[in-house]
Amino acid sequence: MNLSSRVVTIGRTRIVCGGKVTSVGAYLRAKRLEISKIIILVDEHTGRLCLPLLKEGTVLPDDALVLEIPSGDLNKNIQTATGIWNEMLAVKADRKTLLINLGGGVISDLGGFVAAGFKRGISYINIPTTLMGMVDASIGGKTAINSGSVKNQIGFFYTPIAVFIFPEFLKTLPADQFRSGMAEIIKYALIADPVLWNKIKRMPIRETDQVPDDRLKEFITKTVTFKNSIVRKDFRDKGVRKVLNFGHTIGHAFESLSRMGERKSLLHGEAIAIGMVCEGYLSAMKKGLDFNESEKIKKLLHSVYSHYHFTGEDIPILIELMEHDKKNRDGLIDFTLLKSIGSAVINSSCNRKEITESLEYYLRET
Ligand code: NAD
Repeated sequence: MNLSSRVVTIGRTRIVCGGKVTSVGAYLRAKRLEISKIIILVDEHTGRLCLPLLKEGTVLPDDALVLEIPSGDLNKNIQTATGIWNEMLAVKADRKTLLINLGGGVISDLGGFVAAGFKRGISYINIPTTLMGMVDASIGGKTAINSGSVKNQIGFFYTPIAVFIFPEFLKTLPADQFRSGMAEIIKYALIADPVLWNKIKRMPIRETDQVPDDRLKEFITKTVTFKNSIVRKDFRDKGVRKVLNFGHTIGHAFESLSRMGERKSLLHGEAIAIGMVCEGYLSAMKKGLDFNESEKIKKLLHSVYSHYHFTGEDIPILIELMEHDKKNRDGLIDFTLLKSIGSAVINSSCNRKEITESLEYYLRET
């Protein structure tokens, strides 16, 4: 593993990618005077697999408190947040308490939400341990909890003071979670980096150990740097940040559909991969993307992600879910599409017929 690090400071947030886990200790010592207590939020897996690595590399104060929650998106809710706030009150946490979120997107979304609300806002650090967390969820200051089965309904824009990305945490990550995070790297390549897209097309990316350490670090650093550059221009997601939504309009609909009835629940990145196949086709239909390129997107994504079974009867349900999410004027639905590989256009509207065709395209053999 290459341990050289790259440090970027975005607004108030210091982002460190790579390097040794000891850099967290050095950072905390420098901040020591401003911190009264440290609380580390983990889930059942990151408490067992990642916390020892953090403790090994970082001298934490003796009174640092570890709070562990059960893993999974179902626990990203107000009951869990209230439970954490109560624990923090019980140990007399104050406004100078620092919260460290050690985990995937569930931990950073929930921990960020908890930090934003506790005593009207305390400082927090994200140390993402999933690929999805590293390249997406820990960056950009969006925090949220779910309301019932509806995702991310309640939340704040509230930035961490620092994000430390250590790819070595990925060694224990299950392969399906690794692929889920890879979908966001592929998305970045498609919207902004044709050179990276060409590299990704030529290599196996289904498992963590198929991707050499240096290459993985390159993928992570490039994706994070790009997301940051966009967040910096449009923190509150009112304009250019929408460029990050390629694959997400249709992807979110599949994510919701997969939670209905007896279906197999899709991971976020798995759903975005389906979205990118369909939205690649819409890009060819509406924005002049070379049709061969849309075929290559489909071929690559079908080779990495399992085929998702749905039928013609699901199509109206999927479109209804999209309308709920992204409907704009005249019954059209809003997309971010590709003009070419590496160049995306926001605010691209499509109608039901076009969307139906793109869903049928997913189901057709290449
Ligand atoms: P997750 O946090 O649920 O983690 C996935 C699983 O991997 C969990 O079981 C977890 O315990 C386990 N795990 C984590 N690190 C591990 C490690 N190093 N080794 C072994 N197991 C490990 O899922 P995720 O994909 O990281 O995040 C999904 C969440 O992130 C969703 O709630 C989504 O809404 C949110 N999200 C937020 C943003 C944002 O901008 N705020 C962006 C994308 C996704």
